[in-house]
Amino acid sequence: MMNMKNDELNCQEVVELVTDYLEQALLPEIQAQFEVHIATCPGCDTYLEQVQQTIMMLRKLAKQPMFPETKQELLEIFRNWKKPN
Ligand SMILES: [Zn+2]
Repeated sequence: MMNMKNDELNCQEVVELVTDYLEQALLPEIQAQFEVHIATCPGCDTYLEQVQQTIMMLRKLAKQPMFPETKQELLEIFRNWKKPN
């Protein structure tokens, strides 16, 4: 379990929690902390947006036939985004 201080997440933790956040899998208090961080940190705000758009794009693409290599490419991009800078 994460060693969490009162009310602050750092950027590293936010990056790790992004997918859980988008799946609404976070505890309410952690979600609140996440949203506070996103609201005050432009870098993480941009990151969240990018991940969100990628997921939306993947979902859209999943509904239609596509070349396997395109899907693979997108998954790789997504995987790279998960790495902290
Ligand atoms: Zn941040």
